Amino acid sequence: MPRIRPLDKSVVNRIAAGEIIIAPSNALKEMLENSIDAKSTAIDVSVKDGGLKLLQITDNGSGIDKLDLPLLCERFATSKLTKFEDLESINTYGFRGEALASISHISHLSVVTKRREDDCAWKCYFLDGKLVPPPTGGSSEPRAIAGRDGTSIVVEDLFYNVPSRLRALRSKSEEYAQILDVASKYAIHTDGVAFTCKKQGTNANDLVIRASLPAKERIRAVYGSGVANELVEVNAEPDLDIGLIKCTGWVTGANYDNKKSQRPVLFINNRLVVCDPIRRAVNQLYAAYLPKGHKPFVYLSLEIDPKNVDVNVHPTKREVRFLNEEAIVAKVVDAIEVELSKQDSSRNFLTQRVIPQSQKRTIVEPEVARPAKMRSMSSIKQFKKPYEKDMVRTDFNQSKLTSFVKNDTLHSEQQPQPQVINLTSIKNLRKKVQTQTSAELTAILGKHTYIGVADYERRLACIQHDVNLYLLDYASLCNEFFYQVGLSDFGNFGKIRFTEPIEIGKLVKNEIYDTEIINYYPNAPSADDVVQILNENSDMMDDYFSMEIDDGKLKTIPMLVRNYLPSFNKLSLFLFKLATKVNWKDEEDCLGGILKQLALFYVPEVVTDDEGKAETAKALEDTIFPLIKKRFLATTDLKRDLVEIANLPGLYKVFERC
Ligand code: ADP
Ligand code: MG
Repeated sequence: MPRIRPLDKSVVNRIAAGEIIIAPSNALKEMLENSIDAKSTAIDVSVKDGGLKLLQITDNGSGIDKLDLPLLCERFATSKLTKFEDLESINTYGFRGEALASISHISHLSVVTKRREDDCAWKCYFLDGKLVPPPTGGSSEPRAIAGRDGTSIVVEDLFYNVPSRLRALRSKSEEYAQILDVASKYAIHTDGVAFTCKKQGTNANDLVIRASLPAKERIRAVYGSGVANELVEVNAEPDLDIGLIKCTGWVTGANYDNKKSQRPVLFINNRLVVCDPIRRAVNQLYAAYLPKGHKPFVYLSLEIDPKNVDVNVHPTKREVRFLNEEAIVAKVVDAIEVELSKQDSSRNFLTQRVIPQSQKRTIVEPEVARPAKMRSMSSIKQFKKPYEKDMVRTDFNQSKLTSFVKNDTLHSEQQPQPQVINLTSIKNLRKKVQTQTSAELTAILGKHTYIGVADYERRLACIQHDVNLYLLDYASLCNEFFYQVGLSDFGNFGKIRFTEPIEIGKLVKNEIYDTEIINYYPNAPSADDVVQILNENSDMMDDYFSMEIDDGKLKTIPMLVRNYLPSFNKLSLFLFKLATKVNWKDEEDCLGGILKQLALFYVPEVVTDDEGKAETAKALEDTIFPLIKKRFLATTDLKRDLVEIANLPGLYKVFERC
């Protein structure tokens, strides 16, 4: 007797089915797609025991012709595809004619269906791809019964004959949660269709979506107002050259406060899929916009030229691959970033947050920045920017200031039309930074792990790199950092606007001229001179530094980095020094000098109270150090501000001896 024998056909089919349907939610997904393909406008799902006992889906779609019923569960039988070439252009959800066949091999399946034009509905039972008599006996032929237009498919005892699959399943409630999740996601995506989902025998629906609800409200119904209120709409321009026909969606913005991680709800050609390259790129983008540990909600719908999409990389068709992946991912991320940065410049900055109550001045009220103007798509193209992943430098020896200066857009987005800066003076200043770069130090700061503040008065923080622990002077580091931000974003800063303009003369008089501080500046001009100097240069200050000065009143200061406000305690000294320390006669001296003063102004101040410490700690950890890690060229003179205090091998030795 030969030892190699073909397996029994029913076993083969069962194995194949088990690969396509690995959980009840897979079966549901296939059936939902069929109902949507059948142009239904209402779909109801009812489930018992996590879908294992019963999974019923009822739609009001086209119904199935009685003559087609015998083939309904035949493998590779489909109404959607006739020749091989159709595979390339197919635009419906299903296409392999495999789903119902598979399900019929691993469950007891029955169907009631009625087309509008038919007088009655037809009911029939399936097993292993074939029509079978009902459990009560009789003919296997479809039986006429009363019924409504549409199709109702009942799947019972799923996996009854695949014990290994049954064992691998999660608890019934987890499987139900999966089912609800799939139904909810299709509900979000499928405009014009009503959805419900519930456990059988209960009256309470776990999902109710009316047909008329728009996408945003669908998201609200599923994920709640916490998500919905923070949504912004995403819309990328089609790019047929790379096969991107459409890209739309809804995503949460920078103010969404959520720490629970949630995979992007991604539809490609109307099919719920996962796509790791998109997920990774989106997460990376958000990392630059959200506080550490915060997670976005993302719903995206992409239409990609079907002939570029390969859905058959995975038996459950869950994963997809497509041509021009990198370019398409970049487009998608770009579209989201446009929205995020738009929002970014219109965020509300509450000055109370940085000014301890006791020190709050009447002149700085909670302020609302003016909403950013929309940038047209053409202007974005013109100012082509990199994707976040390109801004994370990995080769530190090659990093050049210009390479991220020019490309840096975190800030330039905040102006309607970024200015391209061609000033020789600025270029020189940028070059200077570049020539002073220490590759070693840049590498340490570029790959460090931030530990925390060690001393708020001396302004020392602790970081780890490799096996070494360092103490560093964060005031000094921030000074250089803000100077570089100033240089890179020169002419393109966002604005922090005071609700009420600040009278420069009054402020410097109160805080400088009428105090002992003025004694340190024996040759200082008068307070009126300070006002006059700033007034005279107000056009330039606005153009290059986003400082609006109008008739001696300061209306805005530049937003050097998002989520960070300088201490307003230092505002008076900053204005005073601008007027007195900057050489206004020489272009390079002047611009460089202003940038130096700006940097000093933005350096976190010494704090002693708990509230101040908490705020400084947060700013350093969430905003400044992440940016330093990402885009900072450490200059050689910072070496004196960084001290190695321990290394792990050394520490281990100490403990071994104990
Ligand atoms: P596919 O969707 O790949 O064609 P399926 O096994 O999922 O394969 O379905 C087989 C066929 O059954 C479909 O092509 C369609 O004609 C029909 N069908 C399945 N479900 C429905 C439904 N809810 N309403 C109308 N027709 C359906
Ligand atoms: Mg199908």
